[in-house]
Amino acid sequence: MRHFKSTVAALLAFSMIFSLTACREKVSDKEFEKKLTRSVTTETIPEPTETEPPEPTETEPTDTEPTDSSSDPSNMQGLNLKAPVPEKNCAIEIPQDERYHYDMVLTLDPETNTVSGHVVAYFFNNSNEAWSDLCFRDYPSLFKDSQTSGVQGSDGALTEVTNITVGNTALTMKRDSDVSVFWVSLPQPLHPNDTMTLSYDFTTKIPSLKDRFGVHNGVYNVTNFYPILAVYTEDGWSHEKFYNMGECFFSEIADYNVMLTVPSEYKILSTGTETKADNQGDKTTYTISAPCVRDFVFCASTSFKFFEDDYKDTHIRVVYDEAHPASTEMDECAEASLKAAQDSLAAFGEAFGEYPYPELDIILAPIEAGGMEYPNLIICTAESYYCMKNSYERIPFEQMSIVVAHEIGHQWFMGIVGSNSGLEPWLDESFASYTEIVYAEYIGLSDQYDHYSKKYMDLSSSAIHDSLKSMDQIPVNRSYYSFSNENSYVYAAYEIGKQALYQMEEAVGREEFHAIIREYVHRNAFTNSTEDRFFEVLFECAGQDNQALNALVESVFER
Ligand SMILES: [Zn+2]
Repeated sequence: MRHFKSTVAALLAFSMIFSLTACREKVSDKEFEKKLTRSVTTETIPEPTETEPPEPTETEPTDTEPTDSSSDPSNMQGLNLKAPVPEKNCAIEIPQDERYHYDMVLTLDPETNTVSGHVVAYFFNNSNEAWSDLCFRDYPSLFKDSQTSGVQGSDGALTEVTNITVGNTALTMKRDSDVSVFWVSLPQPLHPNDTMTLSYDFTTKIPSLKDRFGVHNGVYNVTNFYPILAVYTEDGWSHEKFYNMGECFFSEIADYNVMLTVPSEYKILSTGTETKADNQGDKTTYTISAPCVRDFVFCASTSFKFFEDDYKDTHIRVVYDEAHPASTEMDECAEASLKAAQDSLAAFGEAFGEYPYPELDIILAPIEAGGMEYPNLIICTAESYYCMKNSYERIPFEQMSIVVAHEIGHQWFMGIVGSNSGLEPWLDESFASYTEIVYAEYIGLSDQYDHYSKKYMDLSSSAIHDSLKSMDQIPVNRSYYSFSNENSYVYAAYEIGKQALYQMEEAVGREEFHAIIREYVHRNAFTNSTEDRFFEVLFECAGQDNQALNALVESVFER
């Protein structure tokens, strides 16, 4: 997700940090003003273009030793690392392992603003404990009212879930006090490695919201809309409380085979790839295949205008609502978004490994957050400011381009490498925010992020540490629920985490840090990762004796 409304909070938070740290760090007002403005302009108002020349790429020497002799030298690529790493632009292969699958027959009914479906879910017990109950997440039920969703104007309803069966046995659901959770008791436990096929029907009400889940001006954002099996962790079933200013979505990789019926005048975009469209009267049924993803979502409208192109083997589509254009420059905005998507796939493919899916859809849609990520599909805000050519510092449509890059960054950090975004939000939000810098570097705007450099605000310094600590913005690696307020969470997960990753890059070298992340992605692709797994790769590759890195990690993270 990328925040939009948090701008003022971020500005205030940063102002307070400045007031606490500026004198100690001897940052001039002018320098700070530049830092502050740049740190928030991607979400606020345009500032005049600055004309500073780009600075050369910094690749500070590290304290690390040369190549470990036990490593394969052919995989070191001349980098100052202690473990082999994948090459730039390496392939991220879709694994052949057995995984969950969801076969869904869905119908969107715009008359009632509902989506209903029949689901056949195949899964297996991937834990070491027997399962006597199954836990499902049912996020749409939260939108029955504003109190449970936290979103004003929520006019949804509790999801109707019926006909839950295993074989010929009918099962019943029991809704939790948290309405986004329900439990299904099994007639006999599902033991480790045992498989199960469970079917159920559901009807979900789509709220009338200008949001990532909702319908506004006839644009349907249909996301997190069906009951999905929760993740079983070492602490049992994971069912973190929902919060609207971020994500608590957490699921296992699965193959989705979907038949989606909509009125024929509707155009759709979705996770996966359409393999067939069957017109029958005034309805069209799309057959969609979405292998190896964490979720399935779709967007629908009668007035999407399409812009399409490829990047290598990936087909990219950008749409906006032609009936309600957010600006007079929407065609150019869509073209710019398409270019940003191509550049993002190129930049991140080189740095982290190539995007492994054949399709990527970008919906410029009416949502109030900056953007939201889903597998193979991102929603970016069509708020007018983002859709105007002159909302930029250096390139036209820069604000939208950065949002596109951030959400595409999530395809690696959320999509390919999963994580529990409620308990370890920095693993997807800080990383996706860091990808904005990788994108900016790729298109030649590296100096735009200079203010994240250690030379402007050294996160390993005790003064900065103390200030951020007093603001409850470090340690960064905490659950959403442990922050004292939403602003601290937003600032820690999006800004301090991003800056920490940038200063890790400075500590080990840019090429080295990208290679370390490639190795992290390579080891954890299509799993649910943890921060321990990231730090394991980091120190295995960078070594234990990089003093700048060690000081940074010690200051910003709790380990
Ligand atoms: Zn995000």
